[in-house]
Amino acid sequence: QKITIAIDGFSSTGKSTVAKQLAKHLGYVYVDTGAMYRAVTLFTMQNGWIDNNQFDVVALVSHLDAITINFQFNPKLGFAEVYLNGNNVEHQIRTLEVSSFVSKVAAIPEVRYQLVKQQQQMGKDKGVVMDGRDIGTVVFPYAELKIFMTASADKRAKRRFDELVSRGDEVDYEDVLRNVQERDYIDSHREDSPLVKADDAIEIDNSDLTLKDQFDKVLDLVTK
Ligand code: C5P
Repeated sequence: QKITIAIDGFSSTGKSTVAKQLAKHLGYVYVDTGAMYRAVTLFTMQNGWIDNNQFDVVALVSHLDAITINFQFNPKLGFAEVYLNGNNVEHQIRTLEVSSFVSKVAAIPEVRYQLVKQQQQMGKDKGVVMDGRDIGTVVFPYAELKIFMTASADKRAKRRFDELVSRGDEVDYEDVLRNVQERDYIDSHREDSPLVKADDAIEIDNSDLTLKDQFDKVLDLVTK
């Protein structure tokens, strides 16, 4: 019997790492909803609607129909990469620049409405692991298993920093930390679907857990 697994939490808590492992292990589909908000942000930047902190929300909202987001499984990587209007943008959406605007884009109700609809469609057949900020509260409030991941801001920023450096990006630790904290703040204070733990979500603080411990813990919850 396949179920729906919702994994939510603050930025860079390692949600996607666990979600990917879990999906692979269970033979489920993994959906990275953050990648969808990032793709919309990249589209906005490419059109010049975000520039020097000027943000043309009206232009974005009136062009939402021009945005097509898909995922395509890459067997070499073992997970699905995100495509924006037919182009693979998996690498481009992870820059600190996209990260610095994405929470503002994700706070726009019209953007959320559109993406939530697509996410519900993607997960309608169960057998899905979806990670994000509002999966257990809004996208799949009836998910059989909900996990809420936390870790100290410092640990999270460190992980994000290492990730960006290993991609070859030149970044400053302080900037990464500031971005993580800023996104936490905007994501949990926006009016539309703010980031909150669902009442029935199980909280896991992974500040001091190894990846293996974390995975075992989650798998244990699935088989219970
Ligand atoms: O998960 P990731 O860090 O890639 O998400 C990037 C941003 O997208 C988050 O900081 C948040 O602003 C937004 N997001 C959201 N709802 C989701 C997933 C992501 O608002 N379900």
